[in-house]
Amino acid sequence: MKSTGKIYTGANSAVRPVNKTKAGFEELNPMMENSAIGYYTCDNKGTILSYNKAASLIWGREPVHEKDLWSPCCKFFHPDGAPMPLSEFPVLKAATEGIPYQNQKVLMKRKDHSFVQLLVFAQPILNEQKKSTGVTAMLVDITDQQSDQLRQATLSAIVESSEDAIVSKDLNGIIKSWNRGAEKIFGYSEKEMLGRSITKLIPADKEGEEEYILEKIRKGEKVEHFQTLRIDKHGRKLPISLSVSPVRDKHGKVTGAAKIARDISSEVEAQEKIRKHVVNLEILNSIGNSISRNLDLQVIMQELTDATTRLTGAAFGAFFYNKMNEEGEVYKLFTLSGAPKEAFENLGMPRNTAIFHSTYAGKGVVRIDDITKDERYGKNYPHAGMPQGHLKVLSYLAVPVVSSSGTVIGALLFGHPEKGMFKPEHEELVTNIAAQAAISLDNSKLFEQVKSLSEKKDEFIALASHELKTPLTTIKGYLQVLGQKETDKMSSLFLSKALYQVNKLNALVEDLLNMSRMESGKLEFNLELFDLKDLLEDIAETFGYSVRSHKIIIDLDEKPAMVKADRQRMEQVVNNLVGNAIKYSPGADKVYLRLKVTGQKVQVFVKDEGIGLTPEQQKQLFNRYYRAENTQGISGLGLGLYLTKQIIDRHGGSIVATGEPGKGSEFSFSLDLYRD
Ligand code: ADP
Repeated sequence: MKSTGKIYTGANSAVRPVNKTKAGFEELNPMMENSAIGYYTCDNKGTILSYNKAASLIWGREPVHEKDLWSPCCKFFHPDGAPMPLSEFPVLKAATEGIPYQNQKVLMKRKDHSFVQLLVFAQPILNEQKKSTGVTAMLVDITDQQSDQLRQATLSAIVESSEDAIVSKDLNGIIKSWNRGAEKIFGYSEKEMLGRSITKLIPADKEGEEEYILEKIRKGEKVEHFQTLRIDKHGRKLPISLSVSPVRDKHGKVTGAAKIARDISSEVEAQEKIRKHVVNLEILNSIGNSISRNLDLQVIMQELTDATTRLTGAAFGAFFYNKMNEEGEVYKLFTLSGAPKEAFENLGMPRNTAIFHSTYAGKGVVRIDDITKDERYGKNYPHAGMPQGHLKVLSYLAVPVVSSSGTVIGALLFGHPEKGMFKPEHEELVTNIAAQAAISLDNSKLFEQVKSLSEKKDEFIALASHELKTPLTTIKGYLQVLGQKETDKMSSLFLSKALYQVNKLNALVEDLLNMSRMESGKLEFNLELFDLKDLLEDIAETFGYSVRSHKIIIDLDEKPAMVKADRQRMEQVVNNLVGNAIKYSPGADKVYLRLKVTGQKVQVFVKDEGIGLTPEQQKQLFNRYYRAENTQGISGLGLGLYLTKQIIDRHGGSIVATGEPGKGSEFSFSLDLYRD
């Protein structure tokens, strides 16, 4: 609709002085500035020169001076929803043709994807030669007054400008409409697809899906967010999410389907990345656990080799020590993953060849996409000519495992029969894990050293205590003979003191001997059936003779306490507990020895009123050589309770200690009663 009349008084810069706003735009007169109708002026190129508030509200944004043209701001459509090229936009037409346009209906899509229905008026600004230098434009927002037809147009414009594929089809799957989104996603134009069957997009193995979808549609049901694969014009498989709804005629009868397909390749890719990441984290976590749990080198290195082989996607992985074999030829294979050992032997163990040398010489990681193309490759056997039947290797990754002292302990080597399989992220991952491996290799070396030291110490103790035992027994024998003969009071006092000390020494040496027997599994038990109550009575009586400082208060259950146990070892246990109770209660004068039969168990309690125990001590006192800090001045080796617990454990019983510092302690052990 053209107009020749000059209806709108625009800001014609040719005829009036121009003031500039802060942002650099020309100022409009106050009436226009505050109008509810959008006004703006622009030059011939479309650069906006002035505008009012209402115009910026309609555009949905503030323009930027000297940069803003019409185009980047919005997209335009005809009232029927068909896209409107910029050259047809009335304002630009007015500028190029030099003639005014008024009352033009335009559908505009803002940057935020919202739509607005406009009436556009455009008045060219003419110079003296009647040439257009720009346009004064007026925009009236009529969105709220739009008719059904306009609403329909808006909908069409929405469909047309959607990024998603929006397609309608009849109940036989024949395509009836095909928007631009569909063109973009599947690569077929509207012309190519109208009248064709939708099955053109469906992969052969998913053909059943269309029948399933149509079946639902015929029943008037919807299919929502159905994730599947479709094929585009170039034969690529695209992961998409489908939503299909029935389309009905005015009588409510289902006549077809409208479907929206969203390309979800990037989501699927992101999900796959996350999944891989989670798997990697799980593997890393299991390596961490294995390293912290184990000191067994073979176990750690095997898990590490398995895990890194999985993480890198290698066909096989191996850890080789930086040690030559006995013949000084090849590096020593320690662990292998993904291939049988024989296959690896065929491959030829890594020798000190050029390709391996750099790894073992501390020159860092070697990552090669195609090892056969590497100049270091092929100079030496095995790579000069691969023996038949060996593993094929093109992709190669070698990561040295370097100890804290800087020596290369070994290397993790990975291979794959295809090219370019190992990426920088694999290299980084394995390098980090190799650093952890180095720590555990260092630790386990220390552990091996400590273990062998401790084994040597045990050997020494076994030997020394055995050697001490023989002369002690002889001395004891002589002292006893002398004791029987001596009548002189003084001499017999000294003799009995000497005998007491020899007995004490004997007990210590006996403990040492038992400990080393226990450790080497040579401590034997002679099981016999006896009443534990008798044993306790005997022990209490013996202590009664030999100990003056404390009274043993004995409290025995009436029921018999028959057990099948080694009597001598049980005596050792109770002696040790009562002996400790006396030893660690120097200020007290009583020790309580109690026996209780409950159900199928017998329990023995030894209680004192001595120095007591802290919770920490209670946890540790059954450990070998453990002695609490507060036992200074009281002699001992820290072996008695260790042996006691071993004996009870080996009888299938249990022992616990309770107590409070300064308030005494109680030790109790329990054994199964004998049953026929
Ligand atoms: P030893 O008595 O030779 O040190 P034991 O193995 O018999 O060795 O005991 C280990 C440690 O347990 C003792 O050094 C002492 O600290 C603590 N302990 C044992 N019995 C008692 C007790 N009745 N009261 C307090 N502490 C005790």
